[in-house]
Amino acid sequence: MENYKKIIEDIYLDVKNVNDIGKVANYIPELAFVDSNSFGINITTINKESFGIGDFNTKFSIQSVSKVLSLTLAYKFEGAKLWERVDVEPSGNPFNSLLQLEADLGKPRNPFINSGAIVICDVLLSHLENPKEDFLEFCREVSNIPTLEYNEKVAQSEKSSGFRNTALCNFIKSFGNIKNDVDAVLDFYFHMCSLEMTCKELSEIVLYLADDNFTTHKGKRILTMSQAKRVNAILLTCGFYDESGEFAFRVGLPGKSGVGGGIVAIHPDKYCIAVWSPKLNVKGNSYKGMLFLEKFTSKTASSIF
Ligand code: GLN
Repeated sequence: MENYKKIIEDIYLDVKNVNDIGKVANYIPELAFVDSNSFGINITTINKESFGIGDFNTKFSIQSVSKVLSLTLAYKFEGAKLWERVDVEPSGNPFNSLLQLEADLGKPRNPFINSGAIVICDVLLSHLENPKEDFLEFCREVSNIPTLEYNEKVAQSEKSSGFRNTALCNFIKSFGNIKNDVDAVLDFYFHMCSLEMTCKELSEIVLYLADDNFTTHKGKRILTMSQAKRVNAILLTCGFYDESGEFAFRVGLPGKSGVGGGIVAIHPDKYCIAVWSPKLNVKGNSYKGMLFLEKFTSKTASSIF
């Protein structure tokens, strides 16, 4: 950890002063109120050693990073049958694209683009009695952080402006790949995306993907080793939409971004690291977040390649 700490401190100062060419997401109006200069990092190793710097203890909207957790819960329920509803191929298209769905007959390319995450929400709706409460409870149990919450304002803000997601959900339903009521699926999806966490919390909640021996404080496993391997594989190939190749090329870790400016990356058998900087590049990924992680895996020589 001492080695990581010094390197993180140095890169933090270096990247903090870089001219940020990104822009804060404002298509969800509530997200635009964030302090755009926020910048935080937290690393947690599989031995539970932790180090944070900058705004690592400030909560932010994790948005699409929540799709790692929804996929995990749906995978637990369905096992390999899940892949009949959603594929595991990179899309090469923006996260909110409708383009491929018609040719693919309503089967989304992967669970991390919006269409795929909406199908995953539908799967969860079929399994959970009180979807919003039960999903939140699952996140609290995985992380052992009982204070995790949705941000109702962000959820409502996205609901009132989520025209593309509404279109996606209706379109997929026309192919029969949404089983529940469209409004119920979307309400759950918007709440899931509104989850708030700090960098510290985010780096802790995905430890089950880094540590083969991970169990919750109640002694429960989250995924089998084989399932965790597969989720990491989809994160590597699809976690950054049409910039997944670029992230693998520059950073070399499985990871997931969100339009709130958060990124979490996983080094299997070593650590999880979360970075938050709200200004996004044109692909919707945090500009400074990617830059930080590129420098971090280069200086520590700790990518999976
Ligand atoms: N809630 C956002 C949306 O559906 C999530 C997108 C993202 O973080 N990439 O547009």
